[in-house]
Amino acid sequence: MSTWEENVRKVTPYTPGEQPNRPQMIKLNTNENPYPPAPGVAKVLRHPDEDALRRYPDPAASVLVNALAENYHVKPEQVFVGVGSDDVLAMAFMTFFNSEKPILFPDISYSFYPVWAEEFRIPHTRVALDENFCIRKEDYYGENGGIVFPNPNAPTALAMGLDDVEDIIRHNPDVVVIVDEAYVDFGAESALKLVEKYENLLVVQTFSKSRSLAGMRIGFAIGSPKLIKYLNDVKYSFNSYTLNQTSLACGVEAVKDQAYFNETRTRIMKTREHAKEVLGEMGFSFPDSKANFLFITHPDYPAKELFQALRQKDIYVRYFDQPRINNYLRVTIGTDEQMEAFYEFLRDYMR
Ligand code: PMP
Repeated sequence: MSTWEENVRKVTPYTPGEQPNRPQMIKLNTNENPYPPAPGVAKVLRHPDEDALRRYPDPAASVLVNALAENYHVKPEQVFVGVGSDDVLAMAFMTFFNSEKPILFPDISYSFYPVWAEEFRIPHTRVALDENFCIRKEDYYGENGGIVFPNPNAPTALAMGLDDVEDIIRHNPDVVVIVDEAYVDFGAESALKLVEKYENLLVVQTFSKSRSLAGMRIGFAIGSPKLIKYLNDVKYSFNSYTLNQTSLACGVEAVKDQAYFNETRTRIMKTREHAKEVLGEMGFSFPDSKANFLFITHPDYPAKELFQALRQKDIYVRYFDQPRINNYLRVTIGTDEQMEAFYEFLRDYMR
């Protein structure tokens, strides 16, 4: 290794889901929303505010912060926005996880957590899920430098009840607890109800799933004014985390259209419940999903082979080649038509 290479920060990179883009494919591998964003978004894109494009965007992202504050009944000082919740989470890791003690997150969870921990040199401990893939709250009661977990968890799709989430927060008054609610709008209980009560709670959400804007990259955090101020101090020390004018305008349209938001998420939950019945009848088992995906396994058909066979037919699902879950597939809930094509393939395959 050459001398300069010895000084390179070496991390195990995050491996994102594949993003092929062929019109005929059925893409159920990265938990995107199968429906278009709220109609107001397309209007903004068709009629851009050219004067806004000429100017730099507002670094405080006030229009979107205010829209979110109004929607979630909090003060603007309690809202932070970023370029996807990935950036919000990365910023939160950098800001709040600055202890010598290890931060805790579940083993089998969002695979970006260990990447950020490594990248920012944060000591970390992965806490195993129980035998049913559940987060065991008592495992998070000991000494630690901070806590982060998704609710619902990914890729298991299992949600914790709000009382259990609160128990974890209550037992950890001296560190920041981040609840990553990327999938919360599909039937889980949000910890947003607790932000007034716990100064050390940060709830992170995204526009990528329930608001159909993965391509736009918008995420946000809600917490106490104190936490948000610390996040903003770190954000303003960088230059790359400001949403552009188009994202800001589109984000506002997506937040404002509550009726459309409810319609599409309800449709996805309905399709998911039907998928549970169909796949259950085929002999699959899965944790009880409260997200826009199912985590499925079959006693007779190895997941890896199924994954490869599906790909041959241009149906993409997610396979994780890692211990404990390497016989599972994570399947995003698509439109009813996409799901029918998926079931049809499975029926053929199992014949
Ligand atoms: N948290 C979890 C648990 C996720 O699965 C994802 C999506 N891959 C994210 C955060 C990040 O989403 P985004 O950056 O698109 O907001």
